[in-house]
Amino acid sequence: MKVLKFGGTSVGSAARMQKLLDIVNPQERQIVVLSAMSGTTNNLVEIGQAYLTNDKAKAATLIATLKEKYEAVIKELLKKPETFEQGKEVIDYHFRLLSSFANDLFTPIEDKVILAQGELLSTTLYHIYLKEIGVPSVLLPALEFMKTDEDNEPIVDHITAELTPLLEKYPDMNLFITQGFICRNAFGEIDNLRRGGSDYTASLIGAGIRSEEVQIWTDIDGMHNNDPRIVSNTKPIAQLSFDEAAELAYFGAKILHPQSVFPAQKYKIPVRLLNTMDPQAAGTLITNTSEKDKIKSIAAKDGITAIKIQSSRMLLAHGFLRRVFEVFERYRTSIDMITTSEVAVSLTIDDTTYLGEITAELGAYGSVDIDVNHSIICVVGDFAAEKHGYAARVLEAIKHVPVRMISYGGSDHNMSVLVKTEDKVEVLRSLHSRLF
Ligand code: ASP
Ligand code: MG
Repeated sequence: MKVLKFGGTSVGSAARMQKLLDIVNPQERQIVVLSAMSGTTNNLVEIGQAYLTNDKAKAATLIATLKEKYEAVIKELLKKPETFEQGKEVIDYHFRLLSSFANDLFTPIEDKVILAQGELLSTTLYHIYLKEIGVPSVLLPALEFMKTDEDNEPIVDHITAELTPLLEKYPDMNLFITQGFICRNAFGEIDNLRRGGSDYTASLIGAGIRSEEVQIWTDIDGMHNNDPRIVSNTKPIAQLSFDEAAELAYFGAKILHPQSVFPAQKYKIPVRLLNTMDPQAAGTLITNTSEKDKIKSIAAKDGITAIKIQSSRMLLAHGFLRRVFEVFERYRTSIDMITTSEVAVSLTIDDTTYLGEITAELGAYGSVDIDVNHSIICVVGDFAAEKHGYAARVLEAIKHVPVRMISYGGSDHNMSVLVKTEDKVEVLRSLHSRLF
């Protein structure tokens, strides 16, 4: 059984929803995971924000505008009076719920209920549409099987235990529809897998039911070997290993939610990235195997801040790095790149919310220097130590650009350099022409 996930643009209009059956084959047993219609989750975030700041008038205006959009969608999507009526009831129900928070105490718990409405709407409306055109399908409520633990980690065994019997209830049914993104947390509250989390849902379901394949349908033909907005002649990467995909997912064009690689990897479920606009295109296949002797892709991430802590106390001392890392842990700030010398350590972060506090605390251990506006350039491929020469080729290609940090040897499939963001375009282009 396959799992197919369609992102917000793939269900972004009535016309788009109607075209899904060009891709979804109702003769095959499969689970279809849908995101909210594009733009909806952003709108729901704004609505929640308005409530959180107690701006009820703004919330009401935002809700009314979004509701009009959905009313226009069902006018186009649902042509029969009875299914149209059902669509109307669904919209009324969800928007009444959104409006009801004007009278309630509003906390982050209610905010997450608001965020969940996008996927509930898209899946329910699509389910009604399938009914109208006579395609049998079952709507599976993700809130019944998608669950996270105390650390907000999804529980694959729970999916297996809850979803398998649900599927067994319908032995003759081919098409199952469910919501991406949403889940229940350890307290049983409605929660979510964070922005872009529908990919993660698909991978988790794939793992939970030991699916033969997970397909992520977006609006680009797979992962490219460089940033197509910056470099011309980029190509989709035909095949990636899970490790390579995990490195790349952190960078790049938000094609794949970074965490979504891991459940598929653990249960060896192949993941295919495919393009709704061009369903015949090969896309990118992510599996356990890595092609040898190849550089696969170059990716960049902006908005990186480098922090250098220099201290003679680091020399021959133990426990120094632990104390430094603990500062970041206290402020829940994740570190991306690290390089060390005997008397200094440099590391990078992309979340600068607590930079002031972090800098102040690090001051206790040595002198601290901050460099903002940097970009990590990551080259992914077969960097196993015996393939000497690849690292040299990377450095040779960028020898005319000042490099702030280099990270090599952290894994067999990645080499990263930190450069000023103003040099990023030059670095991406130069690497592309020398490496491919
Ligand atoms: N609708 C959610 C979001 O916009 C989840 C997703 O689309 O993957 O973040
Ligand atoms: Mg996405």
